[in-house]
Amino acid sequence: MRIRAALAVTALAATTALTACSGDTSPLASATAMPQQNAVTAAPPAERPPAPACNPRASLRPAGALPTPGDMPAGSYMATIQKRGRLVLGTSQDTLLFSSRNPFTGQIEGFDVDMGRQIAEAIFGDATKIQIKVIGYDKRVSSAADGSVDIVADTMTANCDRWRDVNFSSIYYEAGQKVLVSKTSTAKSIDDLGGKKVCSAAGSTSFENIGKRPTKPIAVAKPAFGDCLVAFQRNEVDGISTDDTILAGMAAQDPYAKVIGQKFTDEPYAIAMSKAHPEFARFVNAVLERNRADGTWKKTYERWLGDFGTAPAPPTAQYDK
Ligand code: GLU
Repeated sequence: MRIRAALAVTALAATTALTACSGDTSPLASATAMPQQNAVTAAPPAERPPAPACNPRASLRPAGALPTPGDMPAGSYMATIQKRGRLVLGTSQDTLLFSSRNPFTGQIEGFDVDMGRQIAEAIFGDATKIQIKVIGYDKRVSSAADGSVDIVADTMTANCDRWRDVNFSSIYYEAGQKVLVSKTSTAKSIDDLGGKKVCSAAGSTSFENIGKRPTKPIAVAKPAFGDCLVAFQRNEVDGISTDDTILAGMAAQDPYAKVIGQKFTDEPYAIAMSKAHPEFARFVNAVLERNRADGTWKKTYERWLGDFGTAPAPPTAQYDK
């Protein structure tokens, strides 16, 4: 898919598309229930001690060769998924290029969806045996942790705080936070937006990072980034700050927007899973290993992000468990 073809995925569509098509489940009650008129607030601080230091990139080592598709080891969580007949992927539907609804086909597609399809292929020998559940950003950790989805692939940063609740795969994409402003803005970076309203999704790492900038931009939380784009286009916020990947998709939809400055954070993306099934994390890591080695990762990059230049080398896997 080329970006131009995706322009029809407007911000408005992103917000009105909260009713998923048949076959999808949309547990978006939390997202839609968020009072948007009151959204210019910081979330209350989490009542939790800070996570101990860790290497968030280090995951569980694959255990040998991948089993034959359709013949998952007895007693494994992969066998449970095989028996069920579909892999359940939790993701967004308005993150252009990573997971967004194609207005022509009604299907949710993108880099993150392909990550899920590749795991389904490894389990079933059939990439279509996947059910997509649209989840809010603030439900990514809990949905993976409580098993309401098998995996979350949703521009999700692996960090030490989240590692307490979920297992992450090895890193499949290296992103970083930037900021999007109007083309008429003279700002050169987020630090020129002190006192200005900068939008981000509730439950995202970006939301917290905005508030930590020394010049104190005002962090505005919306249920999803599609809502941020609508707020930006209505002049309700001065900018949007999130991962460069997500901003690239937004800039492609808005000819009056530009992305400014350098990355000011590292956002290594990984697939989140329940801690109850470590063998499944090892399996997913084996799939990612194979896909890095056989060119599948590169093809996936070229398919979704090829407009931004040549594919870099895929992130190197790190393991410590
Ligand atoms: N990578 C981010 C996260 O996992 C999502 C994007 C953002 O923070 O804005 O929370």
